[in-house]
Amino acid sequence: MSLVHGRPYLAIPGPSVMPDRVLQAMHRPAPNIYFGELVDMVASIIIDLRRVAQTRHHAAIYIANGHGVWEASVANILNPGDRVLVLSTGHFAKGWGEMARRIGAVVETLEFGQRSAADPARLADVLRADRDHQIKAVLAVQVDTATGIRNDVPAMRAALDSTGHPALLMVDCIASLGCDRFEMDAWGVDVMVTASQKGLMTPPGLGFVFFNDKAAGVRAGVTQVSSYWDWVPRVDPVHFPNHFCGTAPTHHLFALRAALTILLDEEGLDAAMHRHARLAQAVWAACDAWGAAGPLEINVTDPAERSHAVTALRIGAEHGTRLRNWVGETTGVTLGIGLGMAPADTPDWHGFFRIGHMGHVNAHMIMGVLGSIQAGLTALDIPHGPGALDAAAAVMARG
Ligand SMILES: *Cc1c(COP(=O)(O)O)cnc(C)c1O
Repeated sequence: MSLVHGRPYLAIPGPSVMPDRVLQAMHRPAPNIYFGELVDMVASIIIDLRRVAQTRHHAAIYIANGHGVWEASVANILNPGDRVLVLSTGHFAKGWGEMARRIGAVVETLEFGQRSAADPARLADVLRADRDHQIKAVLAVQVDTATGIRNDVPAMRAALDSTGHPALLMVDCIASLGCDRFEMDAWGVDVMVTASQKGLMTPPGLGFVFFNDKAAGVRAGVTQVSSYWDWVPRVDPVHFPNHFCGTAPTHHLFALRAALTILLDEEGLDAAMHRHARLAQAVWAACDAWGAAGPLEINVTDPAERSHAVTALRIGAEHGTRLRNWVGETTGVTLGIGLGMAPADTPDWHGFFRIGHMGHVNAHMIMGVLGSIQAGLTALDIPHGPGALDAAAAVMARG
């Protein structure tokens, strides 16, 4: 029998669960898109986006998903033939590199595998070998949503600084912003991209590119940028609609305004970081207990290299899809599929699944996800160790 009827929980790593107030904020007539309330609200949103990114520099808003701002960011930085270095720890950095390649850049990829963070010493070696500074930008994800790896962004900055290499440091925080600590200016990040539908708890459809003055200087040397992707009018509009190269995404903006208030002014960024860390630790504690006597295993071995927004799990091809389906059909929890983890010739998702614990999630929701997985392991006779829910509860008991 199915126990599914009730409030569903989409526990995939984006789109994430949205607060009811975010959804309700969109339930209203459209505002004037030239004057008044909307204009004031966008000004306040830009201030608050900078607070989340911890930057005093520029923030451009696009009507786009994450792929859109991947393209926007490289379109403002690269001329055809420019060289970029991609630090790959899974599916996502590669995708950004592919965007750069398709606009004519020469892309070199440093591969770090799928189970541990990018090694800054190898980055430094490549930068040191690039004596005439051909590499224009280093592209990296803070969190790779496919593997659950969290990269050490300050260590990347240190590698650039220690080798005296002038390349821009460009970081994808699409999965991590609002969940894992990130400080754009203090960490020396030149360009950062993110999107609305993960830690920012807003429907998919808004993307953001943050850039500092060094990146703005590089933009000035780019010969051709399409008018839609050009970030210059977006951050310095002559008329309000230039912010969006046309009609503003009115209702998404109302939603985002509500989400930023919840994140920054009601909970506070530090508290949100703590909540994500603790809930992630609870997930890992449960997974370690299950894995003590069975095939389940957290993909990233070192907890210091794990994201607080998403956990990727290995469970073996015979179990992954069955478990995901059972949990979805019986408990109302949708688990994330595996992405880019299996060898090229095997169906990707069968042996893996992911738990999204990003955004508007709290302790009881995470206990619900873990309890649902526990029920699935039991119902399907998948070997697993005991005490997973106790272990998660013990972590949460620390507050
Ligand atoms: C989700 C995600 C993307 C892609 O975003 P879309 O909105 O699906 O285009 C890119 N990078 C990371 C790290 C992500 O988590």
